[in-house]
Amino acid sequence: MEIDGARNTQIWRVSASVGEDSESLKEALPILQAAEVLKRGGLVAFPTETVYGLGANGLDAKAVADIFVAKGRPADNPLILHIASMGAIHQIVREMPPLAISLARAFWPGPLTLVLPKATIVPSKTTGGLDTVAVRMPAHPVALALIDAAGVPVAAPSANKSGRPSPTEAAHVVKDLLGRVEVILDGGPTGVGVESTVVDCTGRRPVILRPGGVSKEALEEIVGIVEIDPHVLASREIPSGPVRSPGMKYKHYAPKAPAVLVKGDPPELFEKLTRLAAEMQIKGEKVGLMVSRELMEYWEKQTIDPSQWYITCMGSRVHPQEIAANIYRCLRELDEQDITKIIMEGVPRAGLGLAIMNRLEKAAAHCILET
Ligand code: AMP
Ligand code: MG
Repeated sequence: MEIDGARNTQIWRVSASVGEDSESLKEALPILQAAEVLKRGGLVAFPTETVYGLGANGLDAKAVADIFVAKGRPADNPLILHIASMGAIHQIVREMPPLAISLARAFWPGPLTLVLPKATIVPSKTTGGLDTVAVRMPAHPVALALIDAAGVPVAAPSANKSGRPSPTEAAHVVKDLLGRVEVILDGGPTGVGVESTVVDCTGRRPVILRPGGVSKEALEEIVGIVEIDPHVLASREIPSGPVRSPGMKYKHYAPKAPAVLVKGDPPELFEKLTRLAAEMQIKGEKVGLMVSRELMEYWEKQTIDPSQWYITCMGSRVHPQEIAANIYRCLRELDEQDITKIIMEGVPRAGLGLAIMNRLEKAAAHCILET
């Protein structure tokens, strides 16, 4: 395996699953040792319920700078600070507006990040020079135990190299960051599979800057109308003007082979996608497909033989949480094949579908087809 960094990476297994109590992990040796690494200014990759994070002491500008180097991340793309208890927030924010209190009470620990006015103790390196700070309390026992033992807010972007899909398994982190971090805590596959929802709480109304693990509908049940930043809905393009969330202006992961995203509803969607794959194959392309279980059943019923295509199944269209959990793994899998054209099946935008479609649209920056 290629090792292109100067750090000696330790990989430690910590068995724990989402929903488990983090108390029992607090004395676990890998957690205590990883916390020491964080306190000394080192880098620790760890599981959260969304994707694996690449953590450093978020109040230590030098340690935070090392995250950007390890990932190859643009310096003005800010990081999220992860905390393990409500009490920890007062040190890092200047103000906690009532709407942020309501959202934190409803969704923490969980896949929701709140953008708030920053306290002076937070280095500008962490916030990409912004006057605001993004904060989240993850719902993973390993993450909570680690942050608690470190005793500092942990700055952590996704633990992938910039431009690669977010990691949902420790093996993905090893592939991208071996030799670039001190420790990788392997806590098994993550649960949610897409990143947290980022909500700007500094205005009159909450605004979604990035759709993610908590749906717009769920947010609205707590705080009424929630807006979506217009750049989210135009996510196939890289915005040219000023953006409220710096991450929006960067080109996201794109698979090695050009990808087409086919939107619509069955049965037209299935027919269009099948026809497209057949046409590409006739032109000599090696076709890779990222599809739902329902599409595979449709092929079976229509006695269509898909064996000449490389197929990866995202899960069921009626269980978006299954698809969210699989999309990054599927994208990595397609990159490992000698594919020349990728076709991805779009899903309805309701609930988690908004976050899923946002990631698929970015991956298919080249081409989106509507049926
Ligand atoms: P990642 O760390 O890769 O999960 O991405 C974190 C996302 O949160 C990026 O899109 C950032 O631009 C966004 N973000 C972090 N801090 C802020 C902030 N203070 N204001 C707006 N967006 C932020
Ligand atoms: Mg990321």
